Amino acid sequence: VPDLIQLPECARKLLEHLYPRIDWDRVNFYHGIPKYILIKSVGITLPNPIGFGGFRVYLKNVDFCSTDAIATLVHEAFHVQQFMFMGRGLGVFRPGFIKYGICYASNLGKGDLYDRNPYEIEAEAYEAAFRKCYASHKVCDCTSGEPVFSQDALDALEKCNPELVLRAFKVPTCGKWWAYPLAVIVVLIVAVLLFIVHLFDLLKCDYLEEQARDCKEWGKKVRKECSEWADQGYSDCAHWADHGYSTCSQWADQGYSKCCDWKPCKWFCDALIWIANWVCVASVWVSNMVCHAWIWIGNMVCVAWTFLVQVVCLIWTTVLRTVLLCWWR
Ligand SMILES: [Zn+2]
Repeated sequence: VPDLIQLPECARKLLEHLYPRIDWDRVNFYHGIPKYILIKSVGITLPNPIGFGGFRVYLKNVDFCSTDAIATLVHEAFHVQQFMFMGRGLGVFRPGFIKYGICYASNLGKGDLYDRNPYEIEAEAYEAAFRKCYASHKVCDCTSGEPVFSQDALDALEKCNPELVLRAFKVPTCGKWWAYPLAVIVVLIVAVLLFIVHLFDLLKCDYLEEQARDCKEWGKKVRKECSEWADQGYSDCAHWADHGYSTCSQWADQGYSKCCDWKPCKWFCDALIWIANWVCVASVWVSNMVCHAWIWIGNMVCVAWTFLVQVVCLIWTTVLRTVLLCWWR
């Protein structure tokens, strides 16, 4: 049974640098290949079978001092990138994964399906390019026996081949018309089967540990989004108010210039415009205050809601971990 692992800092920083677009909080790594994967493989990437947006990367070799282990990790991360940007779904039933199936099925009857799949062709090409540079720039420096992050090696790796940093992503093109329904049906069946198999993960300590960590990460991220939203809102309010004040004064200037110029009439006209201008400025000020208050309340609700969901999530996982005696195992 594969175990949930934490990547060493060097591997994590390497991946974050090579794939800046991937949301790494949604990706978990496991040591070992699930038994139901019948083909021999050194690594496999699956959408989380009991989740909507997460991914699981299974690795046979987790000795990150070895170039092979790092290259496999980088190869699998390439698949995460291919899958992640086509959207979420139920378990493995996701657009990116179905597209992989379409590409796979399109070569039926033509020999090696794996080697002909453009998803694999691109991942293999990337892995090969990576290996070429990594051989002389080991980001996981193991001179001390342990994999230690080397910023110099990472800089040199990028210099060696700047295209290794994947800022853009593309979806491989492929597919015979009949491969579409075929892939949808097959992936749907696989999704149901894997959902049932992985349902028992809910009774596993390492899965619960992962969930607890997800709750925390999720809360942190959403609270940051709340405050970014509020900052944007405050600046929009201020912008709007500035515009309002200048409209008031423009309007008043125009008004003064249009006033009649014989004495009692001018006094009366000026006084009227002065009052109207003051009312205009006051209403902009009040609206600006309301705008700020509204954003402030919105931010508070956003933060409080996130906090509540996070607390419920943490209590729930903590209770389950206690019931399953996870703390003492
Ligand atoms: Zn692959």
